Amino acid sequence: MTIVVDTTTPPCAFVPEVYQDELLHSPPARTDITAAEWEKLTVKRATAHRQCAGCPLMVECLYRAVVEMDVSGYVACTTESDRLSIRRRLGIEIHEPTTVAYGAARVGGGPVSHEAVMTARQAYPKDTCHQLADRLGCSTSTIKRHLRRAREQKREDAVAPSAPSLPSVDAVLDMFDELESSKVA
Ligand code: SF4
Repeated sequence: MTIVVDTTTPPCAFVPEVYQDELLHSPPARTDITAAEWEKLTVKRATAHRQCAGCPLMVECLYRAVVEMDVSGYVACTTESDRLSIRRRLGIEIHEPTTVAYGAARVGGGPVSHEAVMTARQAYPKDTCHQLADRLGCSTSTIKRHLRRAREQKREDAVAPSAPSLPSVDAVLDMFDELESSKVA
């Protein structure tokens, strides 16, 4: 019997639960969790970082997650905030959020979408973030993140004169190298 090893299978495919962990892709502030929880998160992030750093798809994965798709989750050594930071510095934005599966597979109900949060916000404008979170069955931090993203998008739309050309892979990698996340051991 011959066992065929697929050398292109990315590490995230073997531990999807790590890449789907909201604490990893949208980390809390240090003061929001206990020292023990922070330590656990640090270990988890370092593990995911090492796996992405050694992944044969790392460069393509990072480029696509920054330039082509606004995906959810911890991807290519970056959090969602990291990728937004790179886009800002490169002067690019992604107009159409996607629900296409990418990187780590989404399981179960998956993260709540940006559209779902904005639809709920419009339907219940007086709700608190906590109430919206209850309606959508997600965390308050998820609601806050999407509302913050909508505010940022609105500000960027107001000042962006036209869509710039796509950045090179080297430009994205240069921005990535400047992130604190890129230095996680
Ligand atoms: S998230 Fe991207 S870089 Fe990280 S293991 Fe998966 S495919 Fe590779």
